[in-house]
Order: sequence, then C-alpha cells, then structure tokens
Amino acid sequence: MNLLHNLNPEQLAAVTLPSQSALILAGAGSGKTRVLTTRIAWLIQTGQVSPAGIMAVTFTNKAAKEMLTRLSTMLPVNTRGMWIGTFHGLCNRLLRTHYRDAALPQSFQILDSQDQLSMIKRMLKAANVDDEKYPAKNLMYFINNAKDQGLRADKVEAYDPIERKMVELYALYDQQCQREGVVDFAELLLRAYELLSRNTPLRQHYQMRFKHVLVDEFQDTNDLQYNLLKLLAGHNEGMGGVIFAVGDDDQSIYAFRGANVGNMQAFERDFRVQNLIKLEQNYRSHGHILDSANFLIANNTKRLGKNLRTDAGQGEPVRIYEASSDLEEAQWIIEEAKSLMGEGVARSEIAILYRSNAQSRVIEHALFAAGIPYTVYGGLRYFQRAEVKHAIAYLQLMDNPHNDSAFLRVVNFPTRGIGVRSIEQLQMAADTYGISLYAAVPYMTGKAGTSLGAFVKLVEGARFETQQLALPEMVRVVLERSNLLTHYANEKEGADRIENLEQMVNAATQFVQEEGFGQFAPAHLGPPSQAQVGDAVVYQDGIEILDADAPLPSVMSPLSAFLSHASLEAGDAQAQAGQDAMQLMTVHSAKGLEFDAVFITGLEEGLFPHESSARELDGVDEERRLMYVAITRARKRLYMSFTQQRMLHGQTRYNMKSRFFDELPEEALKWLSPRVQSHWFANKKAPNAWDDAAFRNAGSDNKIAQQLTQKSGSSSSGWRIGETVAHAKFGEGVIVNIEGGAGAARAQINFGPSGIKVLDLSVAKLERV
Ligand code: ATP
Ligand code: MG
Repeated sequence: MNLLHNLNPEQLAAVTLPSQSALILAGAGSGKTRVLTTRIAWLIQTGQVSPAGIMAVTFTNKAAKEMLTRLSTMLPVNTRGMWIGTFHGLCNRLLRTHYRDAALPQSFQILDSQDQLSMIKRMLKAANVDDEKYPAKNLMYFINNAKDQGLRADKVEAYDPIERKMVELYALYDQQCQREGVVDFAELLLRAYELLSRNTPLRQHYQMRFKHVLVDEFQDTNDLQYNLLKLLAGHNEGMGGVIFAVGDDDQSIYAFRGANVGNMQAFERDFRVQNLIKLEQNYRSHGHILDSANFLIANNTKRLGKNLRTDAGQGEPVRIYEASSDLEEAQWIIEEAKSLMGEGVARSEIAILYRSNAQSRVIEHALFAAGIPYTVYGGLRYFQRAEVKHAIAYLQLMDNPHNDSAFLRVVNFPTRGIGVRSIEQLQMAADTYGISLYAAVPYMTGKAGTSLGAFVKLVEGARFETQQLALPEMVRVVLERSNLLTHYANEKEGADRIENLEQMVNAATQFVQEEGFGQFAPAHLGPPSQAQVGDAVVYQDGIEILDADAPLPSVMSPLSAFLSHASLEAGDAQAQAGQDAMQLMTVHSAKGLEFDAVFITGLEEGLFPHESSARELDGVDEERRLMYVAITRARKRLYMSFTQQRMLHGQTRYNMKSRFFDELPEEALKWLSPRVQSHWFANKKAPNAWDDAAFRNAGSDNKIAQQLTQKSGSSSSGWRIGETVAHAKFGEGVIVNIEGGAGAARAQINFGPSGIKVLDLSVAKLERV
C-alpha cells in the first residue's frame, strides 16, 4: 500500500524527514495528526524502526485508539502493544512494568479527581485541620500544581505560615497515598519522571528502545511532560533521541492546567530543530468557516504566525441565531438538526459544543423530549456514576485491599450495620499502627469487630471464588456477591442503575477482547499480559529485556488493567460504539475532532468568553483560542447561537452577546433572526433580519444604546446611570447603562472585581448605596 500518495508536498516532506527532531507547526485541519500517523507507518514500513521502537503521545485515549486502528489498516504488522497513548496511559504502563523500582505495590490503583478530593477531605479531618482555612479543593489544586511542576513537598517553597502548612499537608497526603497503594493523575507522571531520572540503566534502556518519539497536540504539554520527553530522548546525555512534535500554538487551551505553549519554542531551541515545517492547506473546512477562524484568531497577539487556506470553496455562510432564552436556543438547535438529518447528515456528524458542562442539561432535555439519540462526552461519565463506582470499589478491594477510598465507599454499602462510630474507631486503629483500614480490621473487637470482619470475609471470599475466572465472569460474580444488584432492585428508580451495572460485564468483555487478554485467562494472574517483546522488565538484580523467545511475564493482571482503564478512560465508555447519535461535548473535549455540522452555543459575554478569563493574564486570548478550536471543528456547516437570558447554576443571567461576533468577517455570516426590538430601536426603521450590516451595528454596538439612554438621563425604571448600588453576590457596583423600559428594564452594572453584569431590574435585588 502506498502510504504517501495522499499527501501534499509539505506533508510528504514532514512524513519522510530524516531521523532528526522536527516541529510541525500548523493550523487546525491541516493534517497534523494524519502526518504523524503516516510517519509512524512509513518509519516501520521502510524498516527504519520496529513497532517496539515507536512511542507516540496522543491527547486522549480515543485518539490513541483511532491511531492504532488506522495503523493496523496501513501496516501488515501487529500494532497491539505499541506504545501509543496519552501521557497518563503511557506512564501507567511504565509504572506497572517497573512497579518495584517505582516503589509501588504491584496492584497500585489510580485515584480519579473525585476520589482524590474525598481522600484529601478525609485526611484533613483525621489531622484535625480547619477546612475553612484549608479548603480541600485548594489543597488538591496546590498539590496537583506542585506535581505538575515536578516538585515534591520538600522542594516547594513556602512563603507564609499558610503555605508552610499546605506543604506539610502535601507531604502527609503523599504518605497516605503510599500507604494505600494509590496514585493520583499527576503522580503517574511525576513517578514515571522520577523513576527514569533516578534509574540510569532503565532510562538508557528506554532511550535506546524508543528511537522515535512522536507527540501530537504538543502545544498543550506542561513542563513535567516536556521534561519527561527530554529524558526519554536522552536530551542531556548526548543520546540524540528524536522527537517529532506536531502542534498549533493557536489551539493551546490548557494553560489553566499548567500547559505551557512556550514549550514549542523551548523545543526548537533545546533540540536545535532544523526541520520546522508549516502546513497551510486546510482539508477540513469550507471557506466561510475557515475565514471566520482566521479572522477571529488574528485578534490575538503573540502568535507564532501561520495561515490557512482551502481549495474547498466558500461553502455556506456561518449561521447565527439569537434566542430569547436557553430553552428556545435548545429548541432551535433541534429544529436545525432535524432539517440537517432530513438532508441526509448522519446524527454522529452533528456536534453541539458548549463552553461549560452545565449548559448541556437544557439541550439534553430537549433532545430527549424530541427522541433524538445523543451522546455526551465528559459529562458524568460511565465510570463516574455512583453505582458503577461502587462496583469498581469492590473490584479494587479484591485487587488491593489497602485502598482506603474503595474501602470506605462500600464497607457499609449496601448497608450491613456498620456505623459511623465503628468506622471512626477503625480509622483510629489504622492511624495508630500506620496501616490501612482493611489491615486494621483484626484490631477491632465487639460488635464492630464482627460486622467489619464479615465484610473482610466477603471481599476475601469473592477473591477466592473468582480466582480462576475470566474478567467478565468475575465482574458478574462481584455484582451478585456484593448485593449491589439486589440493593438496586429494591430501589424505586433502580432500573437504570441495574442496567448500568450489567453494562459493566459488557465493558469487561469488550476490554478483554480489545486488549488481547485471552478470553479465559483468570482475571487475577493470567498471562498473556501487556508486556511485549522489547519491553524491559527490571528485577532487583538488573534489567531483563524480553526477547522473542522469552515467555512474557505477567506485568498487569486483566483486573488491574481493567481498573486502570476505568480510571483513565472514563470518558470513552460513554460513546456507545456503533450508535448513530448526536455528539454533545465541551469545546475543550472537541479538540482534534471534526464533524460535518457544528453548533457553538451560548456565545455570550461571561459564558464564552468565560467570566473567569477576566481574572487571568491573557485570559481572553485563551478563550479566543478555544473559540478558534470550536470553529475549526466544522467541515461544512457551522451554527452559532446566543441567548438573551439563561438559567445557569440556579440563577437567571442576562448577558450580552459575545465579543467574538464582532471579530468575524461579515461576509461569512448569515443572521437568522432579528434581535428582539429594544427601545433604542424605537425611532429607527425596524431592522430587516437579512439586512446584516445595519442590523448588527444597531444590535452589537453598545455605544449607540448608551448614547440613547444617557440622553434621557434617568430611566423610567427608577434607577439612574452613574448610581452606586449593592448586590448580595457581586458587591458594590456602578450602573453604566440602562436598557428597556419600565417593567422590562435591564441595567449594565460594573461590579469592579466581579466584572460587568447585565441584570434584570425587576428581578435583581439591588440596594442604593
Ligand atoms: P487539528 O488541529 O484539528 O487536530 P489536524 O491538523 O490534526 O487538525 P487532521 O485531523 O490530521 O488535521 O486532518 C484534517 C482532515 O483533513 C482529516 O479529515 C484528514 O483526513 C484530512 N486530510 C489531511 N490531509 C489530507 C490530504 N493531503 N488530502 C486529503 N485529505 C486530507
Ligand atoms: Mg489533530
């Protein structure tokens, strides 16, 4: 198969670069991911490297899967077991393989952020720390942030007593994790980094093994990830490892999580990159869509600079709709989506994007009412649902009984008469001896001792009973032994939950098949394992490299692997394979994806750009990049909408339409509805919905409105422009504008640090100051 015939000259040059580090800098839809995948195939096909010599980092697990699927169609080799995955997934794999050297128990488990938070809360309580002064969330943020920078507690600098205490708690937290045999997401990376930097033979092994490291979405790597890449490439050791990085500085959208777009320039410098290739041909979007993206992003400064063009023709204009409310917005989406489907667009080719998860509820409700199948990415994920987490906790305890989070989750669920006091006593015993809750059970006496002992017996019994079973059967047994199924059967609305639980047997079956764990391999022990030829296995006395003849040692049991999958790939389980459903997701999780038709909803000031951006340096630039990502997901049809009022977090908000509308090229847009007439239109000719320029100027240019209202001085609402007011939530502010007449008046108020808000005067509780 000729891998190269579908590439343009720049792409071809990138795919076939010699073995030197390279940076492919290119805008959305220009084929970066395609180039990266094709390069892997080309390197292998031309015999420059074996599949084991490749490491590729993708941004999501879904993307990794897609890459593997594509590779297996391009290459006649077994791609299973190639090191292709997310940073977290790959670090997990490394730590599983070398758990002893990483000082982890073999069956260490991964805490998702929900578990991490509850563990921190527990720890604060046990340590008698005032959680008003040290909120668990802040501490979690503090710890993760330090880890993302590669800092252990003893390396974090503290400048005041509060910070000193936080550092102390960070150290305590790490001890607790170690005791329970659990690692959080940030820890996966930090542990892997420390393992490789400390262990020279191991590091050198992987440096020699991974001749080619390829990274997609490089603009969103954080400092620790970049340092890990440097370590793998042997950057400081003259190893000359080769990194092939592709990215787009305009799509850097994870600064809030520590991503550092400066890594692109650092990479160019550190690796003395000679090969900088720009791809400027866009293959995804029609012209009007692309023009909108280009215009918008031109408002950002500090760009590395590149352009996008398309041969696809202008296509249809971008359709913009102003709704009166979020409910009406959802209704409009459904009408448009129906007509798209009528035109033959597949449901799965229609995406609805929003800035915040909270926006999805109303849209979901409308879709549900209309009977349109849909899939939500990244909402409450399958593996995060309460009933599923309960079942997972039983499995976790069977795999690693010292996981206190799992223990606490199910020790009395379903209820078995173990009260809060018993748990407190148990916790005290565990603290006294420095052991896990599970290990502390034998120290308990009396009634508590009996019921806790029975729980331990249940877990041990389930482990014994399932020893010889394959994973799916094991899951089934656990669902029954734990009494979860019976418990939900007695619950009024338990049917859904039971269905979700049964779904877990299917998830396990699918997992076993996809991962190549033999159908009948016992879940606890069995080979085959994920270790592949070429992997190093380190024993206390040195490294053993697996060669073709050596038997594969069991690196990870199917159960451990499945539990990792549940923690790491939580998002994927939601997408029901093969179902033709509309796709709902946040703009963040749409990165790298593409659809025939895309709706970008909630384009209102405060929502998109998000109000939090006002607090950050360059915050609006980051929101603009996010908008750029959103626009460039669309192939043929793009819709944008905003509403006059919306319920969010239990509050009705009246926001102005997003500033981003003013940054789009007029000729690319088509406004679908007139703005509802406001009073400043009173003396003007009523705007024609299709008379774009007049309409938009009147609607968007707030200065006109201001002039009109200012002329009249005080308004019929009883409030005056310039007046200082107080609001319970936003504090003191100054009225800068009033729109609308008596009864329907809204005031634009500058609340200083809380930003400028538009409030409905008949609803908002304002006081004169
Ligand atoms: P993003 O920045 O959004 O991640 P990208 O640069 O990774 O985008 P790809 O997803 O690789 O872009 O490609 C975008 C689309 O263009 C895909 O559908 C891809 O198959 C197609 N494409 C890329 N290169 C070519 C080409 N040379 N000929 C035809 N189609 C192409
Ligand atoms: Mg891509």
